[in-house]
Amino acid sequence: FLSLSLQAKMSRPVQARRLEGIEKNIWVEFVKLAATYSTVNLGQGFPDFPPPDFLKEAFMRALSGENHMLHQYTRGFGHPPLVKILAQFFGKLLGRDLDPMTNVMVTVGAYQALFCCFQSFVDEGDEVIIIEPFFDCYEPMVKMAGGTPVFVQLRPKAPKDGKLMSSADWQLDPAELASKFSERTKAIVLNSPNNPLGKVFSRGELELIADLCVKHDVLCISDEVYEWLVYDGKEHIRIASLRGMWDRTVTIGSTGKTFSATGWKVGWTVGPNRLLQHLRTTHQNSVYHCATVAQEAVAQGFQRELELYGKPESYFIQLPKMLQQKRDWLVQRLDAVGMKPIVPEGTYFLVADISEFKSEVPDVPDSDEPYDSRFAKWMVKNKGLAAIPLSAFYCESHKNNYNHFIRFCFAKEEATLKAANDILQKWKREKTSP
Ligand code: PMP
Repeated sequence: FLSLSLQAKMSRPVQARRLEGIEKNIWVEFVKLAATYSTVNLGQGFPDFPPPDFLKEAFMRALSGENHMLHQYTRGFGHPPLVKILAQFFGKLLGRDLDPMTNVMVTVGAYQALFCCFQSFVDEGDEVIIIEPFFDCYEPMVKMAGGTPVFVQLRPKAPKDGKLMSSADWQLDPAELASKFSERTKAIVLNSPNNPLGKVFSRGELELIADLCVKHDVLCISDEVYEWLVYDGKEHIRIASLRGMWDRTVTIGSTGKTFSATGWKVGWTVGPNRLLQHLRTTHQNSVYHCATVAQEAVAQGFQRELELYGKPESYFIQLPKMLQQKRDWLVQRLDAVGMKPIVPEGTYFLVADISEFKSEVPDVPDSDEPYDSRFAKWMVKNKGLAAIPLSAFYCESHKNNYNHFIRFCFAKEEATLKAANDILQKWKREKTSP
């Protein structure tokens, strides 16, 4: 008995080497904090308003309609009606004929699309360039694939004439970017519009990246999940449409952001077959496919959007219009309380400078935890307002360079935004009164 129970307890290490150093995750911690304390949650990026009726109705029809085969497996690389409409839709946007079967693959959210890219393209010893601040999963995903992330920072420039800073003031230094490319570079990850800053990369910036990709024969993993959330008449430019880029780019999109339905977890990749054939191998051998009913509903959503493309009734016109108003309102409210906002050109995130609130949460010199992270935790616990520290979007060695900003998500109902504003106003009054 004794020897059996000894044997039952494993003594050899169970964790695979590829998990070393990536166990900690900011979202686990902050999602738990927001759930533990009664909070107004402007932290994690999801809308608290419903998706459009046409999408919900399409889901209900798919669920309860006569075609009971929609409850069964579908084609692994994407439900045929969805890949067909995505090929049509993105073919139109990219100005090229796309084959639904080889140029499009459906994934379990953009998240799995990213995972497939890193697993399919990155080998031990390969370097992958990541632009900071970055959507945090890029770094562990590159490491899990055996690659080495190489970071290059968007550097803020002070705005002119006391104006509020814009996400456009955060720019790449061309020489610094060029210095990161070498014969070891396999890919660069581009995220425009960028989470967390809301930066929409200009044509000039994209051409700079594209030229370096072509010169060094590097792949581009282009995370465009916020493609429709662009404000002030700015244009979202797809890097795959630039000269020399189609052949080396995988473009990633998501129903979560496109149709305000993050829980559906339907994402997609668009690109040349020479790249997508490898994504299919990883997809086939990991998740196989994503929920058929959800794919059917998203296909119908895109069908509607194709018919209404560019028209005022289009959701891709209405959603940014609605979000721009929310952005403007939050910018103005944050500015009024002294949490200096960086006005985002896109996405539903807004980064604000918390320096003026430093006296509230004193600095702890030599602490391992960046100041903004302690500040955000303190704010959830003491003020009931959740936001995400900007340092979470930097690699370990750069975290402390950008530790006085927090990110708010403004894809929220008016009541939620008002409740957040009430907290900030009250806080400001308490702060200034002796
Ligand atoms: N990329 C970026 C930049 C994101 O912000 C997110 C979601 N927060 C994703 C990818 C993941 O998208 P999905 O929910 O479709 O997996």
